[in-house]
Amino acid sequence: MKPTKAIKNPTEVHTWYGARGRVELHDPLWHIAGIWGLDLPHPPLVNLLIRKGLPREAKLELSFHHEFGHLQMLPFSLLGTVVLLHRSWRAGRLSWNRLPWLWAKHHAFWEMLAESYVMGAIGPRYKALYGNRLHRGLLLFWLGTAILVALTRPIKD
Ligand SMILES: [Zn+2]
Repeated sequence: MKPTKAIKNPTEVHTWYGARGRVELHDPLWHIAGIWGLDLPHPPLVNLLIRKGLPREAKLELSFHHEFGHLQMLPFSLLGTVVLLHRSWRAGRLSWNRLPWLWAKHHAFWEMLAESYVMGAIGPRYKALYGNRLHRGLLLFWLGTAILVALTRPIKD
């Protein structure tokens, strides 16, 4: 898929730990986020799920914060991965065939961190943008990521 022009500016961002990065939202299904010149173009699957039904401007604002949240929370995500790998190694459960499972857990944790960053970054506006109704995508996101992070073993090892 050929990216279109970025629709959310500015695209250059600075993380709290001093890294320069880039966040670009391309309409409708393409985001780019990265630091130190390592950009990761990707379809915004999580943002599509948890922003469904919101007005376009709210989707863009929240999606931008979410992508930036991934960059802002990267050190904590990597720390969690180190702990996860260390615990797996100590338990004698670190093997090549378990790496996809560990990657999934790491990614779920990083998604939770990124969305938590959004909530902290915009404060009470987060709840106001979603209104008082239950958002099924948001519920599915939090339940799914929490279960994935909390599970200690895959269903089948
Ligand atoms: Zn994400």
